Amino acid sequence: MPPPPVDSGDGARPRQGGRPTAGTERLGILGGTFDPVHVGHLVAAVEARHQLALDRVLLVVAADPWQKHGRVVAPAADRYALVETAVDGVDALEPCALEMEREGPTYTIDTVERLRDGARSLYLVVGADLVAGLPTWHRVDELRRAVTLAVVGREGEAVASVPGWDSCTVTMPRLDVSSTDLRDRIARGAPFDYLVPTPAARILRARALYGWRG
Ligand code: ATP
Ligand code: MG
Repeated sequence: MPPPPVDSGDGARPRQGGRPTAGTERLGILGGTFDPVHVGHLVAAVEARHQLALDRVLLVVAADPWQKHGRVVAPAADRYALVETAVDGVDALEPCALEMEREGPTYTIDTVERLRDGARSLYLVVGADLVAGLPTWHRVDELRRAVTLAVVGREGEAVASVPGWDSCTVTMPRLDVSSTDLRDRIARGAPFDYLVPTPAARILRARALYGWRG
């Protein structure tokens, strides 16, 4: 009989079998609004996991990201449900609701502080498009000290090391898809299958998210 699921105390779904290693856990954190989740997010997560030999990658669903105030479309619970089903059955990718449990704006440093633990090294996975804006992030100096920045460069995209940060690079095939484009597709009745993984697309339709009308 398999061991019972272990709650790792980090807002991620309890896992079968507990922590993978007894020593330092290499934990990836991929934050986003996932409004909706798409293949670009998921390939970034699996490539980061593989190339950096991470034990787990948490897809942290932002409740109320300050950078997107007023521009997030679907409720956090729906966005979380899409992420949860999208990673179901994919080894070491886990949905994380930690930011949804907090009131007010969502800041990455708060999440990092909740996840910090002497037995973990934290890798903050970000798309190369976010690097230019990093200096404006809340309590950026503390964030810089707490994580290794893993910059995901889509093929053909120049990714330099990021001054002042302990950083590394992850490469992935260029998948020119964004949640903004998907919301537009869904609202105008254009196809979105496979760009949004099938189980997530099923929930999206069942809940008529993003103006989906069938
Ligand atoms: P929006 O269009 O609403 O900004 P998005 O598609 O950029 O949405 P986010 O939730 O903002 O999705 O992104 C979460 C993370 O995923 C960010 O680090 C972002 O850089 C990265 N990301 C988004 N789209 C892609 C993609 N196509 N390929 C690789 N990484 C991506
Ligand atoms: Mg974006």
